[in-house]
Amino acid sequence: MQVIKAAKMTYRLGEKKHFTGTVQLDEITVKEFQADVKVYRVFFAPGARTYWHTHQEGQVLHIVAGMGRIGTLRESMIEVGPDDVAYICPGEKHWHGAAPERSMIHFATSPDNEGKDTGWGEEVTDDEYNGRVVRGVKP
Ligand code: MN
Repeated sequence: MQVIKAAKMTYRLGEKKHFTGTVQLDEITVKEFQADVKVYRVFFAPGARTYWHTHQEGQVLHIVAGMGRIGTLRESMIEVGPDDVAYICPGEKHWHGAAPERSMIHFATSPDNEGKDTGWGEEVTDDEYNGRVVRGVKP
């Protein structure tokens, strides 16, 4: 057994070109044992969210705390909370983040394919974030 102390864990802040607001990504995968998968614990401050993006091989999101929102091209905005799990299909365009007044923490799991997994798109507008439009069209 090997314990990796929290103080040794590395984290990074979400880049402004891919995230709106304050987002912290903690990679919790141990490379030597988990070569084929990437797992991040992601903290979103209230109102923070990703830009629109895709994952080549899909992604599983497991919400563990707070209140959040997920949007896709088909389904506008869906509210999510603790213990909810979302499966994003390979290539499905989507975004995820916190609720406006609440932070959110989820685990994000994807196959590891050397950083080629995520295809980034445009910023999520306030209308999209609030479920008022789906890709510019009122539902
Ligand atoms: Mn995603």
